Amino acid sequence: SSIFAAVEMAPRDPILGITEAFNADSRTHKVNLGVGVYYDDNGKLPLLAAVKAAEKARLDAMPARGYQPIEGLAAYNQAVQNLVFGKDSPLLANGQVITIEALGGTGALKIGADYLKRLVPGAKVYISDPSWENHRALFESAGFEVGTYAYYDAATRGVNFAAMKASLNAMAPNAVVVLHACCHNPTGADLTDAQWQEVVQIIKAKNLIAFIDMAYQGFAEGIDADAVALKLFAASGLQYFVSSSFSKSFSLYGERVGALSIVTASKEESARVLSQVKRVVRTNYSNPPTHGGAIVAAVLSSPELRQQWEDELAGMRERIRAMRIALVEKLKAHGHDFAFVAQQRGMFSYTGLTAQQVERLKDEFGIYAVSTGRICLAALNTRNIDHVADAIAQVLK
Ligand code: PMP
Repeated sequence: SSIFAAVEMAPRDPILGITEAFNADSRTHKVNLGVGVYYDDNGKLPLLAAVKAAEKARLDAMPARGYQPIEGLAAYNQAVQNLVFGKDSPLLANGQVITIEALGGTGALKIGADYLKRLVPGAKVYISDPSWENHRALFESAGFEVGTYAYYDAATRGVNFAAMKASLNAMAPNAVVVLHACCHNPTGADLTDAQWQEVVQIIKAKNLIAFIDMAYQGFAEGIDADAVALKLFAASGLQYFVSSSFSKSFSLYGERVGALSIVTASKEESARVLSQVKRVVRTNYSNPPTHGGAIVAAVLSSPELRQQWEDELAGMRERIRAMRIALVEKLKAHGHDFAFVAQQRGMFSYTGLTAQQVERLKDEFGIYAVSTGRICLAALNTRNIDHVADAIAQVLK
């Protein structure tokens, strides 16, 4: 008999499953709020003008496609470091940061997780409750036991910071703490600057290892403002991991552009750590693809394209913000207080809608959301927001 005869069907990815159902829906007024991508006001996935310009120049140059170094394009890695740590960071001047090009934020997390498993094999990994659903799976597949730390407070639709601190304080030394730098996925609830400062202090006092996931730099307040956690960690003297993703900020989802950075104690330590991380990459996919990293590097290192990109990123950020405010106002007109939606940041909101209400949104109104009540604000636009607000008001009755 077949070697696959006893293979069971794996569960469907919960979020991609929503999109499959959405695509099969023939209602014209349907809206997919279940996605994790930014759409423009026409409901279209944008191709940024800065990206288009960089791609055109690259196409004109017709570069040959040799192998990249295991760690990826040097110009890209340096541009990422400058963006994430700030180009004047003493960490960079001291050679305390290694950065490798990775296959999206997911790829960065995966390489970081595999390397951590070699570095601290017995450590436990903690993710926020709740977190991006792939965090648990990624670290479990690297061989870690994964637990959660308290984070979201359903009563305030914000962060239960006292509970979060209690969770962190209860962790054993060397525990790995996965933190969302900004625009927390799925809740939209972020820490304040002062709370970040406390988190850094606890991580230091308890000898924990921070793994900061930065998938949405520039989507909350701006490129620098969204890196506040990074600045506080930089000042701490700690060693830590950072995964970056340019899927959203460059709208380059399918090109798989991300990076893993690791902060060490010295330049000499960096060389040794990089050599080990390269072994992890070599046995996974050998070296990263060329196109996406080359485009991001070209945009970030050209003053004109960089300005254009920053303007386009600001446009995405401001459009999401406008949709948040509009949704709050429209629901207020229906007698519902959703002010928390304007406090939350990034692409997502935990709305507090129940699984049953989400089901009704789909069945009665063709509006798809995640059963946890997560909606993507970046899928709202001036043409569908009234339908969405009216529908939410209906299911709240
Ligand atoms: N981390 C978080 C918190 C995310 O939301 C995402 C993407 N949805 C990722 C990582 C992965 O990013 P990428 O698509 O670049 O792999």
